[in-house]
Amino acid sequence: MSRSTNWRRSAVMAAPVLAFALVAPLPPASAAPAAPAAPPAPPTRQPVATGYGGAVSTVDPDASRTAIEVLRRGGNAMDAAVAASATLGVTEPYVAAIGGGGYMTYYDARSRRVHALDGRETAPGRMTATSFVDPATGKAIPFDQAVTSGLSVGVPGTVAQWELALRRFGSRDLRTLLKPAIKLAERGFVVDQEFRDQTAVNEARFRDIPPSRALFLPGGRLPEVGSTFRNPDLARTYRELGKRGPRWLYEGGLGREVAATVKRPPVDPASTRTVRPGLMETRDLRAYKALSKKPTRVTYRGLDVYGMPPSSSGGSTVGEALNILSNFRLGPKDTARTLHYYLEASKLAYADRGRYVGDPAKVNVPLDELLSSGFARERACLIKPGQAAEAPVAPGSPDGRYTPCIPPGQSTRALAYEGPQTTHLVVADKWGNVVAYNVTIEQFGGSGLTVPGRGFLLNNELTDFSLQPPAPGAAPDPNLPGPGKRPRSSMAPTVVLKDGRPMLAVGTPGGSTIITTVLQILLNRIDLGMDLPTALAAPRATQRNTPAVLAEPAFIKLYGEALAARGHRLETAPGPPAGVIGAATGLEFLRPGLVQAVAEPVRRGGGAALVVHPAR
Ligand code: GLU
Repeated sequence: MSRSTNWRRSAVMAAPVLAFALVAPLPPASAAPAAPAAPPAPPTRQPVATGYGGAVSTVDPDASRTAIEVLRRGGNAMDAAVAASATLGVTEPYVAAIGGGGYMTYYDARSRRVHALDGRETAPGRMTATSFVDPATGKAIPFDQAVTSGLSVGVPGTVAQWELALRRFGSRDLRTLLKPAIKLAERGFVVDQEFRDQTAVNEARFRDIPPSRALFLPGGRLPEVGSTFRNPDLARTYRELGKRGPRWLYEGGLGREVAATVKRPPVDPASTRTVRPGLMETRDLRAYKALSKKPTRVTYRGLDVYGMPPSSSGGSTVGEALNILSNFRLGPKDTARTLHYYLEASKLAYADRGRYVGDPAKVNVPLDELLSSGFARERACLIKPGQAAEAPVAPGSPDGRYTPCIPPGQSTRALAYEGPQTTHLVVADKWGNVVAYNVTIEQFGGSGLTVPGRGFLLNNELTDFSLQPPAPGAAPDPNLPGPGKRPRSSMAPTVVLKDGRPMLAVGTPGGSTIITTVLQILLNRIDLGMDLPTALAAPRATQRNTPAVLAEPAFIKLYGEALAARGHRLETAPGPPAGVIGAATGLEFLRPGLVQAVAEPVRRGGGAALVVHPAR
């Protein structure tokens, strides 16, 4: 029998959309098959849904259904986005959790304005530019040691961001919106291959961290595909959070537990793994604030593209690249030529991102100049039509004094590694409000540290900082760790308006490839004339000012030769999963009220697009 995620207390029948949500738990493998349970129905996934009354796209059917149910009951897009992200905390615990942070771009239909909400994690007050440097070597500690450590854990921002988002734009309280996720965490969900794979990536370190082992390796084993995964600890945590409010985390008992986990990581005494303690104090949690910000805006081919301002580099880098591309006529007639410009524009924009973008509360970010058309023209004239520039290219000078074609100067540093996974969701409601929301704990499994008994992982977002200061004489780095500082992100939840009304929203996970994936989807949709489902599904490539372009195999097959002739070196993206870039979600207003929600058809098992009233 199917169960539902229906959370009303009254005995209301499950809405049909929820009919596939959950199945009865399977008996343990060893149990006698007295009354064989029906095999679990696989969750429904569909990459495209078109209709009225509201729309959602996430990577996960349960999260999408949660959002649709909120909309169906009269909640708005922000309510639905918060409820869906809480559900992702259950079904995607390795990428979305209250132990992490995120960024949100929001179109408010009433005021017809776009807002940016920054829920990025912050570094503890005791963190300095050399906190990741091993005094014995004078070099950054090994990256995998930084990842699985208390040191990498930033003060979680998601709960404060939810509070801010709901206070400003929501119509339901957090307690209500957490209910579907609580129910799902208690009843469990059906493990799919993706969940098992993400657990497998983490298996070795989870084994060394007892609370993570107990939660994610039930019975000491990887969860089987088709089994039911429950998280009663998280259900209790969400319930308490609903009751006590965000202060429980930022000023209360949960915060004390988080800080204790960071300062004394719960490592198995038998393990030989080095898990460095972190610097977080309860006062760091008390000091945390989610921020309302002015979004970035550039005009591209007559459309207004709104993105996430620093501390994310998403809006500034997508925006700068679009501004550079505005200088060229691009189209589907010669796709390889268009892609050449796309790769070259990203290369240049990445050089500037590395040199100039960090947390604007702590470093001076010349955002207006980075997004100025004068700077874009100066950068654009470095692009040769038939020949890729050798990467890494040097950053430009966003100083307000622009001359065409400045000579190349000093190169930027190599691009720091950034973890490949977070998640993105989009929601539109019947009033025309739109949310694009990236939520993350940085890498699959974040720091690997589960808060004991609480059912959620803590992030490793501070590894998005540059882990060691530049060599003497090298260009300054705006992204060094510092007290209270937000590490630079690439997250780029993006909303595009046409004639002042929402046209589309898009975003993706993928670490620093987020920027190029968003850019490429926009290019596919706007310049290459694809519809949004095709634009999302199309094969991807990413050029982040590195010698090689990393690409999906299908991209190499289609365009490899033509791009190699222009001097691009294409290599298969390493993943995980190998050869896959991003897991995007988007939506488009086909006409007022009629929305098409779009998810991945194939990447990472495909996502889940739903609408409230499907169009016939
Ligand atoms: N930490 C990454 C960022 O903020 C996002 C995580 C990911 O997608 O890998 O850019």
